[in-house]
Amino acid sequence: MSGSGRGTAGSKGRSDSSTAGSRGRSDSSAAGSRDRSGAASGGRLRPGVPFVVVHVACLTVFFVGWSPVALAVGVVSYAARAFGITGFYHRCFAHRAFQVSRPVQFGGAVLGAAAAQRGPLWWVAHHRAHHRFTDRPGDPHSPRVDGLLRAHLLWLFTPANQHPGLQGVSDLARFREMRLLDRYHHLVPLTVAAATFGLGALLAGTWPTLHTSAWQVLVWGFVLPTVALYHSTFAVNSIAHRFGRRRFATRDDSRNNWLVALLTLGEGWHNNHHRFPASARQGLSRLEVDPTWLGIRALAALGLARGLRNVPTWALAEARGGQRTDRADGSEGQLGSEPRLQSEQPAQVL
Ligand SMILES: [Zn+2]
Ligand SMILES: [Zn+2]
Repeated sequence: MSGSGRGTAGSKGRSDSSTAGSRGRSDSSAAGSRDRSGAASGGRLRPGVPFVVVHVACLTVFFVGWSPVALAVGVVSYAARAFGITGFYHRCFAHRAFQVSRPVQFGGAVLGAAAAQRGPLWWVAHHRAHHRFTDRPGDPHSPRVDGLLRAHLLWLFTPANQHPGLQGVSDLARFREMRLLDRYHHLVPLTVAAATFGLGALLAGTWPTLHTSAWQVLVWGFVLPTVALYHSTFAVNSIAHRFGRRRFATRDDSRNNWLVALLTLGEGWHNNHHRFPASARQGLSRLEVDPTWLGIRALAALGLARGLRNVPTWALAEARGGQRTDRADGSEGQLGSEPRLQSEQPAQVL
């Protein structure tokens, strides 16, 4: 879900689209220099290795069987870590759509890191670049520019997309704990894997009638939901830029796709999102269910979030009335002035 014109994401300001566009896909040397200059997202492993391993590990489901309790752990594991990505990595960190305290910020970052989609700085850097260059050269995962498969996952493994600099995420990188988490992000999903294994062992030893085991809970509680989370998140970058309805005539190919929305806690209302990227809310009508928005509102009700940014009332009214405000050909219409992403905006913590 994120993009990175050769690993920069705003590191050079909003006016450098030509620069980003000129960065070729083989610009690994530039990426390397950014890595030396500092940071974002550690990952000393080859990026594709854990990704392949966890996919292959899915096959073990045929050997461990299943149980209701293992399935329940999997559902909770999926939903919680999905919210870490959608609520925190995406809407809170990348777009500053609501404000949280520093401890909540870190807690949300850990939850997002548990999804095994790398650290918060890496993720946000790429996603801000996606919004800056959407469906143009410089967008790391555009179906229009690179094709569906590359937009879905191949972009993740190009050398140039491994080490974005910190300039474009300075609002987050100024927190030491966020830099540390970004560097050692892989420890979080490893801990989740160990915890699910331990939980399975505990359940099997304490309640044999549950008919579960350590390996079964590891597979159902970590391996399968991690892979499902990968592809649901990636579908926002690929499917939701190719298939679905366009309510707004944004400059890009973003679509509202109900199936992607269902799988991603509301992130599939992607055309709405590209029209109002700073909004904490993406589903605009009753039928556009947006569980992440509900979760953010729940955080606010608990006093853990504030300053929730919403879409204008006219957009909500039009969505509820079923009116389309874009042009049928999908070209840029009167709504071409999308709100700019304020990637350099300082973090606003309580
Ligand atoms: Zn997009
Ligand atoms: Zn976004």
